[in-house]
Amino acid sequence: MTSSGHAAGRDQETDRAHAVPREDADGPPPWVALCGTPVAVVQGSWAGRRGLGSGDPCPDCRRLAPG
Ligand SMILES: [Zn+2]
Repeated sequence: MTSSGHAAGRDQETDRAHAVPREDADGPPPWVALCGTPVAVVQGSWAGRRGLGSGDPCPDCRRLAPG
């Protein structure tokens, strides 16, 4: 199982980045992150600067999708 299959989602209320399964992100909203948080925006890869590389990646999503 690879960890590259996640997109970076963003919770609009907190600006925290969350991991969204790629197959979900390719479909229509609403999207729900691995930790169960609804996200309003999906942008880029979870492994990139919009996700783990951002200023505030979700610790639960980071545990569930380490990279
Ligand atoms: Zn999360």
